[in-house]
Amino acid sequence: NLLEVKNYSVASTDNVPILHSLNLTIKKGETHVLMGPNGAGKSTFGSSLLSNPAYKLTEGSIFFEKENITELSTDKRAKKGIFLSFQAPVEIPGISLYSFLRAAVKNAETPLTGKLFRKKLNEILKVLDLKQEYLERDLNVGFSGGERKKVEMLQLLMLSPKMAVLDETDSGLDVDAVNIMLKGINEFQQTDEKGMLIISHNMHILNRLKIDKVHILVKGRIVADGGSELIQEINENGFIRFENQAGDGN
Ligand code: ADP
Ligand code: MG
Ligand code: MG
Repeated sequence: NLLEVKNYSVASTDNVPILHSLNLTIKKGETHVLMGPNGAGKSTFGSSLLSNPAYKLTEGSIFFEKENITELSTDKRAKKGIFLSFQAPVEIPGISLYSFLRAAVKNAETPLTGKLFRKKLNEILKVLDLKQEYLERDLNVGFSGGERKKVEMLQLLMLSPKMAVLDETDSGLDVDAVNIMLKGINEFQQTDEKGMLIISHNMHILNRLKIDKVHILVKGRIVADGGSELIQEINENGFIRFENQAGDGN
């Protein structure tokens, strides 16, 4: 097992319960999809995996490569190889994309330096069809949607975390950006060592990815686990069946 959450309940720091007793296991080599209506708790789950200080675990535990990391800080979890990508990437004027990647990779679980860094960077630039010039630009400042997507995938592939969580980073993308994202994810899935959790409702993405398991989150509870047939069902009927099942959420 790569990631395992057991009886995992999360509340906001001011004690509003958000997630209730989740159980979920992601094995090495697997890609899981998390779907659910707006407000179900998907982002809370994603960011709590990296111990976002806005939330606290009220019950249960989290294991990464069999190690109990329940008490570990964001920093330490990131260093162990958990990566979270957000909906809105940050703009950082004054920091070039190159320096950002360099610093990020230096702090990674397996740091890449000097020639190896450069070599890997060149390979990934090629895969993503990114020009060298981008590296000199300030991080995300004035980047188009497609460019941001390329940068996000570049970051994912350079850091090469063991576990990547992508939280609706595919909303509002045009066809080109969707293709870039698919390229990046496919490349990431090449090894059997990595795990992925994709939070998404974008059928253009979901229909074209290798997906092992799908989880449906409604009102802070996982109400169904299955295969990609669940994606088709939701695409056709929405979450009604699952919402009825979830009751009032208490
Ligand atoms: P989703 O990503 O599925 O749309 P979220 O995880 O963003 O859902 O939110 C789940 C629920 O938790 C929502 O009702 C939201 O208002 C609430 N919530 C999220 N963050 C906090 C917080 N820091 N404090 C209080 N409530 C929060
Ligand atoms: Mg939302
Ligand atoms: Mg969300």
